[in-house]
Amino acid sequence: MRHATALALSSLAVIAAACAPPPVIPVPPPTAAMTAPAARPPAGMSLAAVPSGRMYARASLAYEGGATDDARVFSIGGILVRHPKGMVLFDAGFGPGVDEHFRIGTPLLLRLASKYDRQTTVADQLRAAGIVPSDLTAVILTHAHWDHVSGLEALPGVPVWVSEAELAFVKGEDRAGALSRRLGTDSYRAYDFPDGAYRGFLASRDVFGDGSVVLVPAGGHTPGSIIAFISLPDGKRYALIGDIAWQAEGVDRPAQKPWIARRVDHDREATRDLLVRLNQLKAADPGLVVVPAHDARVWATLPALESTKLAAPSGSAE
Ligand SMILES: [Zn+2]
Repeated sequence: MRHATALALSSLAVIAAACAPPPVIPVPPPTAAMTAPAARPPAGMSLAAVPSGRMYARASLAYEGGATDDARVFSIGGILVRHPKGMVLFDAGFGPGVDEHFRIGTPLLLRLASKYDRQTTVADQLRAAGIVPSDLTAVILTHAHWDHVSGLEALPGVPVWVSEAELAFVKGEDRAGALSRRLGTDSYRAYDFPDGAYRGFLASRDVFGDGSVVLVPAGGHTPGSIIAFISLPDGKRYALIGDIAWQAEGVDRPAQKPWIARRVDHDREATRDLLVRLNQLKAADPGLVVVPAHDARVWATLPALESTKLAAPSGSAE
């Protein structure tokens, strides 16, 4: 029965991929506002990927036009940013309770069509690197779906920053927010976007006041999803885009999620508009590394936690 359902789902994806050439989404040229503004990232600031698990899917289930014989690995984890003024973790990855969380967070049909592997939790990897939960200023969620909050369980007492719209999603009735609700809304802290326009987005929050970590509202995949722009002292620039696209092609083509998977997006039109905007941003700033939360190929290019150990903030920039 399970097999039959999974098979039916795959067959539908095959038919959809074969019969419908992906629509071309028009992309206007980038605007002047989209160029990277000056940032002043301090010495000692670093970024590190902390993968905590993997999921598996065909490219045909990840973006429109993806091939059915193109197996993709979905990374699940957190991205740690160390800054002299604080340490923040973007998303929490899989936690110790992932088996139960998967059941709570994933609709039956998707559960049948998905499998996952767990790796060392983000909390345990941080501990091995000498970082305990109380060292973290916050976990900043790109959004509050189960695969981004599961690891919060192992990070007790750490404030969890979400946009106001995302806090409303967490506290609401949406089944996709069930795990985030259950893990304890007491930890959640809502923030707003008081810092004006940023790269074509109408509002922003400059977390450390130096342009090194800037959050912008990017509702679509969930009502209060965000994009985090990170600028490092070595000139590298990243955009952590959560699940606006699952794989890089979503932005690079641009291409929406396939219709069979697109139902996970709260607002499909807004999500498509964000793909267009991110495509424009890359045209305006070719050095910008766009990081979908689940593209393992992109994650493999990010610094590992071990390699950034010595970059812990010293408080004095020489
Ligand atoms: Zn996700």
